[in-house]
Amino acid sequence: MAKLEDGSEKGLKGHFKEDFSHRTRVGLAPRAGHVDRDAPYQRIATEEAWTFPALVKAQMDYLESGAASDDDSLKMAGLFARMPSLQEMLQDLGDLRISHMDEMGIDRQLLLLTAPGVQVVKPGDGTALSREANDIAAEACRKYPDRFSACAAFDPRDVEGSVKELERASRELKLNGAVLNSHFQGHYLDEPAYWPILEALEANDLALYIHPTAPYNAPHYEQRGFFGALAGFPHDVWLHTMGLVFSGAFDRFPKLRLVIGHMGECLPLHLYRFDWMQGNADGRARPLIDRGEPIRLKHPISYYFHNNIWITTSGVAWEPAIKFCQQVLGPERILYAMDYPYQQSYDEVAAYDRMDMSAEEKKLLMEDNARSVFRITG
Ligand code: CA
Repeated sequence: MAKLEDGSEKGLKGHFKEDFSHRTRVGLAPRAGHVDRDAPYQRIATEEAWTFPALVKAQMDYLESGAASDDDSLKMAGLFARMPSLQEMLQDLGDLRISHMDEMGIDRQLLLLTAPGVQVVKPGDGTALSREANDIAAEACRKYPDRFSACAAFDPRDVEGSVKELERASRELKLNGAVLNSHFQGHYLDEPAYWPILEALEANDLALYIHPTAPYNAPHYEQRGFFGALAGFPHDVWLHTMGLVFSGAFDRFPKLRLVIGHMGECLPLHLYRFDWMQGNADGRARPLIDRGEPIRLKHPISYYFHNNIWITTSGVAWEPAIKFCQQVLGPERILYAMDYPYQQSYDEVAAYDRMDMSAEEKKLLMEDNARSVFRITG
């Protein structure tokens, strides 16, 4: 774990000891570095997690009731709930979080209700919890207008409630986007039943951040030890994103903005092959997402990655990967993210400062793209 700049044992390092001591950073991880305190850009971190006690309780109550024993995302919530120092960081939207931001040079966090969010609680309870979440997030943004922005939570299982809450989050609460923690009990937004949510996102000018959760077929991953970041997380968001593309959602809602993290969950590396192989699925019968006639896309798959999809760098402070994505997607489509409190260090922040790119591209990466996609002012 990185040492604090002043070499002290306090602050973040102390917080990490308890819950993350099993983690190691080897190989390609950034070398120790100095955070530029006079950087010519603000650092806006765009995938920063939080939660609140009523949600953790609702998740635990439902988990312990045994009524949803096959929901691995709910089990993941139980895992997180048993990590006290992680919960302390996730549940703080004030002094502790801001002190960590100050220590690492983060000017602003875009707050995302952490996975698995409200979409795993007892059916019928999610929308009320999303309202509570969005009120708390909006209050934090009002209290610290130069430090926090936030995405709205919603429970997609309640389509009508989600549409209303997204409208309220945009028009009344002035939140900056929406967050979904990928699949919900094996369902995805590409299914026609959920399209009113996509329509509401577009109508209310809210970018949708699809953040990972435990994959639907988690036992295949879990039994190998990597249902999370090593395979299960990216695979599920990959499926969700490609499902949305092939469902024709971006043809039907051309102003819909989708954001995915972790260097686009590896998808940009495959754009060439996606276009080549598009006919494998495009225009063919796909029972889960068809609405009558098989859907045929208006554009090559790469088009949607150049017009509707943005990616963040969460957890991947790796110059070659970032530059590749800037080259193939365009420098205006890559946003900085840290992934507080799950993956953070001074070394990562310093690695961004050291990256060899033009001042204009660096400012797009660290600040301007976040402002543009999430409508952040101030
Ligand atoms: Ca995250």
